[in-house]
Amino acid sequence: MWCDLFVTKLVPIDLRSDTVTKPDRTMRAAMADADVGDDVLDGDPTMRELEERCAQLLGMEAALWTPSGCMGNTIALMAHLQRGDSFLAPHLAHVLGNELGTAAWLAGGMPQALPWVTPGVPAASDITAASASAGPYYALRTRLFCLENTHNAAGGAVVAPDEHAVLVAAAREAGLRVHLDGARLWNASVAMEVPPAALTVGVDTAQVCLSKGLGAPVGSVVAGSAEFVAEARRLRKMLGGGVRQGGVLAAAGLVALDRVDQLAEDHQNARLLADGLREIGWQVDTPQTNIVLATTLDLPTTLSRLTALGVHASAMAGRVRMVTHRDVTRAQIKQVLRRIGKDATRPSGGRSLGSSRASAS
Ligand SMILES: *Cc1c(COP(=O)(O)O)cnc(C)c1O
Repeated sequence: MWCDLFVTKLVPIDLRSDTVTKPDRTMRAAMADADVGDDVLDGDPTMRELEERCAQLLGMEAALWTPSGCMGNTIALMAHLQRGDSFLAPHLAHVLGNELGTAAWLAGGMPQALPWVTPGVPAASDITAASASAGPYYALRTRLFCLENTHNAAGGAVVAPDEHAVLVAAAREAGLRVHLDGARLWNASVAMEVPPAALTVGVDTAQVCLSKGLGAPVGSVVAGSAEFVAEARRLRKMLGGGVRQGGVLAAAGLVALDRVDQLAEDHQNARLLADGLREIGWQVDTPQTNIVLATTLDLPTTLSRLTALGVHASAMAGRVRMVTHRDVTRAQIKQVLRRIGKDATRPSGGRSLGSSRASAS
């Protein structure tokens, strides 16, 4: 018994993010064998293949690879906004709080957060109210609504196609453009068993990550009209994101796209983790996808206790965040539950690790 605990403590299980995955042999082999060209000069065939496949999957006219999701979002916002334009996004959206203010610094946008009616999802009426534009010449101009699916800080909450349709319609009605931050759109698609293109209906632009649950080491894609992508290519170059023999990176993205269906396992593991933590006495939301959020009284203490147990978690909106991904197995999730369960029985453990008993007091 003590032996089991001793050994397992030595093997850390990393649940900080689904970005910690490492490219496996298949992916590395595809990268090594990639057909390449100069993608800044006159094109890279593997980049083209990835972009065309993404555009098709997303039901958009064209797509452009970017080194990161943040750059994809920044490019979209730069294309949509003029300096001083207001843009709307759900409370705790990634573009509001997690992109170093680039929406303002680089895209010139004035951010306006919309409250949630359900986790991650704003009310259509708030879009209408916040964009009551068409005022006199001195009125603030609201130009863009930025949706996030899944909503990261809401615990990977999905926006269903019908909710999406209502929000997009309200934005359109108010004369707004729509950008979809779909860093984890693949997760939403798998969780709701709808094609990704069903979740982009009516949007002008969408950004999807290849480097999160899908496991590519680098890369995102921003999609929209052919006209948008032509401008996005210029903006990407301005931001330093034009790469030369990018096919080496795009090849990883193509392998990643073959793995979308496997996200279902991450979702099952997240559910297993949440259910198990609840049984131990934690206050945990039921995850819709691969992000588990738990409430704790003392976040720093809980995180350091977890680290001591070899369970790496992170903080998100004042809560403990654990993300399942392709490099963590079902057996490891059970191991996480065993480690935390054992710790909670110790005199000091129950209090430091977030339990519903503790947070009720
Ligand atoms: C991770 C993430 C991004 C940014 O992706 P990077 O590749 O890390 O720059 C954008 N939006 C959301 C919702 C994310 O979770």
